[in-house]
Amino acid sequence: MMRKGYPVKTYCKGNSNYSRLSPEESEITKPFNTHDGRMSFAYKGLVIDKRNSLYSVRDVKLEGFPVHLVEGVFNDSRMLRIAIDGGLLTASPEKLERLRERNKNVSCGGCGTPFLFRRNMLIDYLGGKIIQCPYCYFEEFEDRLNWGTDESFY
Ligand SMILES: [Zn+2]
Repeated sequence: MMRKGYPVKTYCKGNSNYSRLSPEESEITKPFNTHDGRMSFAYKGLVIDKRNSLYSVRDVKLEGFPVHLVEGVFNDSRMLRIAIDGGLLTASPEKLERLRERNKNVSCGGCGTPFLFRRNMLIDYLGGKIIQCPYCYFEEFEDRLNWGTDESFY
């Protein structure tokens, strides 16, 4: 039974910044959540921009693809996937293959988040090229990148 008038404890005494971890340790254990509800990824060659839970398709340059099907902003990823999958049936298969080759996802080795690969993201480093995750800033050499699938929606 609840006791009426029992004071509800709404604050804790003491320093709220107190941490059992040293500053170095808390730096490491900080959760990766730096993408602000925004991300871009490739889905079957098409570039999808996601902002919070709204999706839009970046201008599609694919012969035979009925662009009007994916115009605007979608809040239902399932509906958008269905529209894209349907549209791709009428697209030129050779052009689609080239588009998929160009729009690929990297799966970050640091935080696991997929992100759209762009050659202009590569930075010269120690005789090779590295790419930095836009979310957690993890760096990886180009030849050691994990390519993510482009058949998932995020
Ligand atoms: Zn990352």
